[in-house]
Amino acid sequence: KLPKAEGNIRIENVSFGYEADRPALKGINLDVKAGLSVALVGHTGSGKSTIVNLICRFYDTVEGRVLLDGIDIRDVTIDSLRSQIGIVLQDTFIFSGTIRDNIRYGRPDATDADVEAAARAVRAHEFIADLPNGYDTEVEERGNALSVGQRQLLSFARALLANPRILVLDEATASIDTETELRIQEALATLLKGRTSFIVAHRLSTIRHADMIVVLDHGVIVDQGNHDEL
Ligand code: ATP
Ligand code: MG
Repeated sequence: KLPKAEGNIRIENVSFGYEADRPALKGINLDVKAGLSVALVGHTGSGKSTIVNLICRFYDTVEGRVLLDGIDIRDVTIDSLRSQIGIVLQDTFIFSGTIRDNIRYGRPDATDADVEAAARAVRAHEFIADLPNGYDTEVEERGNALSVGQRQLLSFARALLANPRILVLDEATASIDTETELRIQEALATLLKGRTSFIVAHRLSTIRHADMIVVLDHGVIVDQGNHDEL
């Protein structure tokens, strides 16, 4: 079991491959203090999602270690690790049910007022209020009735409500209209506050929000710094 995390993440000499003899990451070192946000950038196949996968322990590190507050994440249960990590993936996970239940997913005890407060904070409330049944509107598993941007805002509300110490976000690549984009950027700022975050970033506006930018190329960190430095 893991105590409530502070949120320092340290990646030490990590090399990893999904297949033998095809390394996806080579000798990665990264030290992220609690509360800071990291934008991961680089060409397709450079290893951005792989870093995120290892932090969430979707795979076990083959070489080196990933430490959360100094503890090797292989030494704690998957459940206690994941309970501290909010995960927002490219293909946002939406299940059949109401909008309310979707937002409340990680916090079944949350009241209707909690749900609405989270939705307001990430500016999802506006579009939800416009739906025929508001928070009681039923959505389908694929979330077809919602746009990509709306799904992203919904997943932000869910993550905010769950309030994890660590946030992992694989940004949607699909095109989003300018107004929604603006909303997502504001929402992101709210969501990142006070958490350690790793964002696979595809938008320049997202990269600007990050405290640290890490550039990957063929599984290696080739550059690191803040927006002004790079
Ligand atoms: P993108 O911008 O396209 O999402 P990425 O930077 O996230 O790219 P990764 O998904 O981390 O890249 O992939 C790194 C390397 O690992 C690539 O060579 C990729 O082909 C390989 N890879 C990724 N996932 C798997 C998998 N599930 N099985 C085998 N190889 C994989
Ligand atoms: Mg990826």
